[in-house]
Amino acid sequence: MATKRDYYEVLGVAKTASGDEIKKAYRKVAIKFHPDKNPDDPTAEDKFKEAAEAYEVLSSEDKRARYDRFGHQGMGGNGGGAPNMEDIFSQFGDIFGGGGFEGFFGGQGRGQGGRRVKKGSNLRIKLKLDLEEVANGVEKKIKVKRYVACQPCSGTGAKNGTDLKECGTCHGQGQVKRVVNTMLGQMVSASTCPTCNGEGKIVSSKCDVCHGEGRQLHEEVIPINIPAGVAEGMQLSMNGKGNYPERGGVPGDLLIQIEEEPHELLKRDGNNIMFEQYISFVDAALGASIEVPTIEGKVKIKVDPGTQPGKILRLRGKGIKDLNGYGRGDQLIHLSVWTPKNVNSEERELLEKLRNAQNFTPNPGKNEKGFFEKVKEYFQ
Ligand SMILES: [Zn+2]
Ligand SMILES: [Zn+2]
Repeated sequence: MATKRDYYEVLGVAKTASGDEIKKAYRKVAIKFHPDKNPDDPTAEDKFKEAAEAYEVLSSEDKRARYDRFGHQGMGGNGGGAPNMEDIFSQFGDIFGGGGFEGFFGGQGRGQGGRRVKKGSNLRIKLKLDLEEVANGVEKKIKVKRYVACQPCSGTGAKNGTDLKECGTCHGQGQVKRVVNTMLGQMVSASTCPTCNGEGKIVSSKCDVCHGEGRQLHEEVIPINIPAGVAEGMQLSMNGKGNYPERGGVPGDLLIQIEEEPHELLKRDGNNIMFEQYISFVDAALGASIEVPTIEGKVKIKVDPGTQPGKILRLRGKGIKDLNGYGRGDQLIHLSVWTPKNVNSEERELLEKLRNAQNFTPNPGKNEKGFFEKVKEYFQ
């Protein structure tokens, strides 16, 4: 793969450029390299796409921050790569104002038949993941019901896929254009053709299978790779796995919303795992070897003699893998000392003997960390 140019360089803006400056710069570059404007320059389309990719990243606060920190490396997975032409054109609505590209170019259209390609609706699903799956990433196979192109009519809605005729109102353009005189001169405004709803074609006899809709509901099992480190509420998207629109176009996307199922014992805190372990005061005093649960199964840990309650032990690398590939969190074990609530007479006798024993009177040394210090340490 060729090395990518810096996104700021592509748009010709400074690293400190405001959102507005980025938008303006993109508009300029997009117009300059628009493929319709450069039919003789085969590199124009690549430059056009490169600009769209740069804009896609720099126009999103989130992606821009990630790009600033990690460069192109940080854009791996979702959000990287050049968007396809359809996505680029669908962005133009907000870049060039309501009229879209057509309006901007005085109704010249954008080649390829001039018709705006319809995009189907997005499908949304919720996906529950347990802590192990979040920690390591997982491949899930999910069953979805989605509209796909009707096979017999190839998604056209017409009998045999051929009983179509060009719309007489817009002559296949899908749009009707009007020239309006304004103070600034003549402007061309384009609107969706009312006869064919922008499809450019009219079905003269309907497909028997889909009754002219051009699509059918279909149950499908889709494998999804969930990266490690995702969190509640995050949304992943799979391009083109949504619904196919009526009578031709490109399918929408499948949007997967992550839900985290709480773990019975372990609690997540960012990329770290928290666990509270109770030990007896005998174990705290004499030291012990205990087993604690982790996301990878049980692990033996050593409790030092003379351990005070509230001590935090760290199991390095036993946490959750970072979503951006920056290492792995830790598991923090908070040691609490368990005080017996009920004691029988035998135990009472033993404890009474200990009550006045030399080393059973609290006597915190100078090096003993207090509550506030521990909290500070924990948040460092
Ligand atoms: Zn029409
Ligand atoms: Zn059909």
